[in-house]
Amino acid sequence: MEHLRIALQKSGRLHEDSIRLLKDCGIDMNLSQRLKSSALNFPLEIFFLRDDDIPQYLEENIIDLGIVGENLILEKERKLKIKEKLGFGRCRLSIAVPKNSDYQTIEDLSEKCIATSYPNILKKFLDKQQIQADIHTISGAVEIAPGIGLSDAICDLVSSGGTLFINGLREIETILKSEALLVASQNIKFPRKSLAERLYFRIQAVKRARNNKYVMLNVSNKYLENILNFLSGEKSPTVLPLADPNWTAVHAVIEEKNLWNSIERLKAYGAQDLLVLPIKKMIP
Ligand code: ATP
Ligand code: ZN
Repeated sequence: MEHLRIALQKSGRLHEDSIRLLKDCGIDMNLSQRLKSSALNFPLEIFFLRDDDIPQYLEENIIDLGIVGENLILEKERKLKIKEKLGFGRCRLSIAVPKNSDYQTIEDLSEKCIATSYPNILKKFLDKQQIQADIHTISGAVEIAPGIGLSDAICDLVSSGGTLFINGLREIETILKSEALLVASQNIKFPRKSLAERLYFRIQAVKRARNNKYVMLNVSNKYLENILNFLSGEKSPTVLPLADPNWTAVHAVIEEKNLWNSIERLKAYGAQDLLVLPIKKMIP
């Protein structure tokens, strides 16, 4: 039987969340295999690779799907398709300078040297800003470059900023915001194509579920209309009678990012006894 082939990062920042996404899609796998594992309940082979190799393997059709950072996709400029933003692996690509230097803006880096592992993205950014600077490409430990006299500034990935701080650096410009992406080879052939569609469907159901919460509340009938106006969707919310005929229960799905604002509004409109539950899967 033909198997769909997906590549995940072997170890590193995207590894755990990528495995968790597949697990939430109902895919069981044996994680003791180091390079390649077959899913136990879906025709899927999982390859564990360095993230840097994944874009090329996709372009060459060695694998069908991969999970990598948007930063890497933009840097590698390979021919492939972006299928989904996955909501994890969030970081930014930023320019940073030594804390005590005079540099305040990127204009101050004109004719200076910037060390990075992202020369393509950086060059495009500098060209657009019409800044001439020397790009020094290094593959790792970029944050130590200014300290050892290799460069005046760096362009590197940042999430909390802790690494910059430890290395005496200060961020002056963000040039890209990134998160993990599901990417696909440009021509996945049948029957792997239909397996990929099945996986996309599951990933979308998981993503939707992660972005929403299920809220249950009780409301006195005299305030019910306020609550229904606030929550009105196409068919929902669910409206249920309670043992006390003067009271009604309302159940609705609420976007995670507005959750606390929505709860405050619901309370103000008269909602009581609120329960907020996670959703496992959400299928339209
Ligand atoms: P590999 O051994 O696979 O080449 P790596 O060292 O290139 O690993 P990681 O540091 O694990 O990669 O980062 C993988 C991806 O995680 C990055 O490309 C980026 O998309 C994302 N990421 C999220 N936060 C950060 C961060 N603070 N620093 C670096 N990458 C981050
Ligand atoms: Zn890498």
